[in-house]
Amino acid sequence: MRGCIGCGKCCRQVVYTVAKAGREDLITFFRMHDLDVRNSEDGESVVTVIRAKCDWLSLATLRCKFYEKRPTMCREFLCDEALKD
Ligand code: SF4
Ligand code: SF4
Repeated sequence: MRGCIGCGKCCRQVVYTVAKAGREDLITFFRMHDLDVRNSEDGESVVTVIRAKCDWLSLATLRCKFYEKRPTMCREFLCDEALKD
């Protein structure tokens, strides 16, 4: 595992995994809120990625401006990039 390379990608998007059955409704809802939505299908689920930058991300450094106060989900997140050899 090489760990985080500090690209900041995870702080510029929100990822939802939803059942296919509820997909269209959810996508419509997000687009009504002017969110940039991308989808990829995987079996019975759909992964929906919303381009939405976190206010705490510094674009100058691609680092969290309040790293010590970041939410638990940020502390526990491990992306595919970070898990590569
Ligand atoms: S956890 Fe992954 S996506 Fe997030 S900054 Fe690190 S390498 Fe990039
Ligand atoms: S709180 Fe910090 S670590 Fe979490 S998404 Fe925002 S910028 Fe990234």
